[in-house]
Amino acid sequence: MKEKWKSIWYKLRSMRIQVFAVVFLVGILPVILFSNIVVKAYNAQIISQKTNELKAYGNVISNLALSTGYLSGQESDAVERESEEVANAYQGRVLIVDSNLRVIKDTYGLEEGKTAISTEVIQCFYSPDSEYINEIGDYTQLTIPIVDSATGSVSGAVLISFSMKSLNLLVESVNYRLLLIMAAIAIFILLFAYLYSNFLSKPLTKMRNTIDNVTNGDPDVSLSLSTYSEVATISDSFNKMLGHIKEQDESMKDFVSNVSHELKTPLTSMKVLSDSLLSQTGVPEELYQEFMGDINNEIERMTQIINDLLSMVKLEKNQANMVITSCSINDLIEQLLKRIRPIAAERNIELIYESFRPVIADIDEVKMSIALNNLIINAIKYNYDDGWVRVTLNADHKFFYVKIQDSGVGIPEDAQDKIFERFYRVDKARSRETGGTGLGLALTRSAILLHRGSIKLHSKEKEGTTFTVRIPLNYITTET
Ligand code: ADP
Repeated sequence: MKEKWKSIWYKLRSMRIQVFAVVFLVGILPVILFSNIVVKAYNAQIISQKTNELKAYGNVISNLALSTGYLSGQESDAVERESEEVANAYQGRVLIVDSNLRVIKDTYGLEEGKTAISTEVIQCFYSPDSEYINEIGDYTQLTIPIVDSATGSVSGAVLISFSMKSLNLLVESVNYRLLLIMAAIAIFILLFAYLYSNFLSKPLTKMRNTIDNVTNGDPDVSLSLSTYSEVATISDSFNKMLGHIKEQDESMKDFVSNVSHELKTPLTSMKVLSDSLLSQTGVPEELYQEFMGDINNEIERMTQIINDLLSMVKLEKNQANMVITSCSINDLIEQLLKRIRPIAAERNIELIYESFRPVIADIDEVKMSIALNNLIINAIKYNYDDGWVRVTLNADHKFFYVKIQDSGVGIPEDAQDKIFERFYRVDKARSRETGGTGLGLALTRSAILLHRGSIKLHSKEKEGTTFTVRIPLNYITTET
């Protein structure tokens, strides 16, 4: 039962049904209201017109009755004729009552000589200025006092009752016609509301179908809705989102294929090495030692790739992972250099550190260390023996800047855009030799972006490379 109500409620919440209902009601209510007012006004107009006509005739009879002395028993053809004519013309009845409430004229001839004691007649004698209208069944009765203008006293009353039948028939036929017109208008509004609600909800249905298609694994769809500007904007944003999903999908595929490739290389060498050992008998121990040493190197390489990948996943997660503390950047760089110095010394590379001022900033120390460490290590890795690496720290009131300059091999211009991509290496063999995975700069960039910073590169082949990192001193939590 509850489910049934739920489904009914769900259907009623439909935009299409609501738009339909609103358009229909807004269309039909004024029509009903307006036609009601018109009919009522028309009916009142017809009745008042008829009553006014009869009042005029009543006054004529009243004047005649007074002037001819009809009320005091005089015979009067004029009064008789006028009464009969009025009664005939309006399919009604005319009664004349004298001051003793005696009926002296009844066009039906039924009440003559009797006493008329209706409330309206009695009221006439008390308040001569007013007429009385009352309805008896299909009849309307008009009671008009006959006032003697000389004395101002009421000498009698004229009662005219007339049939409302023909009037009611007329009103009914008008009502019927109006009902037909209203029904036609209602059908038109119904149709309009149906078409309009359909038209309005159509883009939403189309959008839902497209979303369903994407969900079902077909990202090669696009939306083109232009009915309303709002819908067109949503359609544009939706297409942009689709493009983004497609890009991510592609980059994911690329990434998986790159990872597989990178892991396959050490595995293949290990396989070759172990196969050659297995296929020989009586292999000398030195060869075993050598091959196992090579296999060990490949395992180390694989471990390095996997470690870098794991750091990358951690870095790429989101901002919620950031552990922000206020840090001395000078101390952080000095610690890094202390660890790196022996590596530089191996190749007699001079490592220079220059700090223009003490810098304190809100950073994630671990992530910032990874980023700067990679840049300095690269400056040594891709350097000539006896070269130099210069690390400079500076700051203004908003940012701090770390510049890493080297006298190394440089990066060809066409590769400068790509070096931040995962697994991209200018010289695969050299990078492999130095234990590079091609993930270092991708990691660096992710870490810098998480700090809402930026990284710029300037390089000339065979002369050297400069990376400039800019990081806000105060960590910005949300993007503006
Ligand atoms: P890798 O693990 O190969 O060092 P990175 O992502 O750190 O990967 O760097 C990508 C590539 O960019 C490197 O293979 C190298 O060719 C180039 N590169 C990075 N830093 C420098 C540099 N300071 N001088 C010259 N080439 C560099």
